[in-house]
Amino acid sequence: MTRKMATIRKIDALRPIVGADAIECAIVGGWTCVVKRGEYVAGDLAVYCEIDSFIPSTIAPFLTKPGHYAKTFEGVEGERLRTVSLRKQISQGLLLPISILEQFDLTDCGDKVRPENLVVGDDVSELLGIVKFEQAVPAALAGEVKGMFPSVIPKTDQERIQNLSVELEEWRAEGLTWTITEKCEGSSFTAFFNDGEFNVCSRNLMLKENADNTLWATANKYDLKNKMTALGRNIAVQAELLGPGVQGNIYKLSKHMLAVFDIFNIDTQQYMSPADCKDMIEQLGLTSVPVLTSSAELSDKTIDVLLKMADGASVMGLVGCKREGLVWKCNEQRESFKTISNTYLLGEK
Ligand code: AMP
Ligand code: MN
Repeated sequence: MTRKMATIRKIDALRPIVGADAIECAIVGGWTCVVKRGEYVAGDLAVYCEIDSFIPSTIAPFLTKPGHYAKTFEGVEGERLRTVSLRKQISQGLLLPISILEQFDLTDCGDKVRPENLVVGDDVSELLGIVKFEQAVPAALAGEVKGMFPSVIPKTDQERIQNLSVELEEWRAEGLTWTITEKCEGSSFTAFFNDGEFNVCSRNLMLKENADNTLWATANKYDLKNKMTALGRNIAVQAELLGPGVQGNIYKLSKHMLAVFDIFNIDTQQYMSPADCKDMIEQLGLTSVPVLTSSAELSDKTIDVLLKMADGASVMGLVGCKREGLVWKCNEQRESFKTISNTYLLGEK
C-alpha cells in the first residue's frame, strides 16, 4: 500500500472557529483542515492533501511565508505540510478546490481524471506532482542494497485512523477487542529466515550484511541470525529500530535497540496474533514495543477521542518525552490502525 497523499474527498462539514471571521474548519473524514471562510460548501468535492505531502509551489505558492524561500525536495520547489495550530485550532493537510485540476493538461490522462469523472478516493498525487516528503536517510541506516524487499512478506505500515471513518463504524459494531501498543519513532526493521536463508531489510529494501550498517549491526547484537536459524521456522520479525542516529533519537537512548511489533509467518502468509507474537518475542529473547493494554474496546469512541488517547508520555525513554502515538491491533482478526498524537506533531521539529 502506498500512501495516497492527495485524493478526491467530499467535505463532510464546515465549522466556525471561535473568534475568527476569515477562516473556518473543513471536516474531511477524520481530518480537520482550516480553510478560507466561504470557499467551500459542505458536500463539495475537493482535493485533500495529507500532512507530510510535499506541495509544489506551482500549485500552492501561498504556502511559502512572505519573505521566505520555498524549500526544495527532489529538485522541486515547494513546501511540506505539517500539523499547525491556527487560533488554537489544529489544522492538518491542505484542501484545494477541485478546479485546481483544470490547470493541468489532462489530454493524455484518459477520461479518468476529467473532473466530471472523478470519484471520492481517487488518487491525484501524481497528476499534481505531490509526493510524500521524506527526510534524507543517514548512510549508516541506508546500507548497501542486496535486493528488493521480499514479495512474500508485507512491508510494515499502518493506516491513520483519520482515513478509516467507515471501517471504525464497522469495528465498533462488531465488538472486537484490541491490543494497544506505543508507536515508537524510529526506523522500520525486518529480519527474516526463509528456506535456509537469513536476511535483514529496511522499510523498502533488503540489505547486504555489513557491520557498518546499523540494521545489520543491531540484528547481530541480538544474535538474530543464529537464533532464527536454530528455530528453523520461516518467519519475519518486524520491529522499530531505535537509538543514536535514528530519527533524532527522541528517547535519548545510548544504544540501539529493537522494539518488535509484528511477527509474520511466511509459510501461512499470516501475521501471528498478538498473543502468539508475544510468545515468539520471548522465545527469541527480543523486546516488544510497549503494550499498554491487550483488552481495549472501541465501544463508542470517536476519532477525536481516539486521537486524544494518543497524547501522553512515552514509556520508552528515561526522560518524560511525549509519545508519537499508539497503534491499535485487533485480537480477533487482522485489522490495525495508528493514532498519531497531535500534541506530538505540533511539537515536532
Ligand atoms: P509511520 O511511522 O507513520 O510510517 O507509521 C508506520 C510505521 O510505524 C510502521 O511501518 C512501523 O515501522 C512503525 N511502528 C512504530 N511503532 C509501532 C507499533 N507499536 N506497532 C506497529 N508499527 C509501529
Ligand atoms: Mn515512523
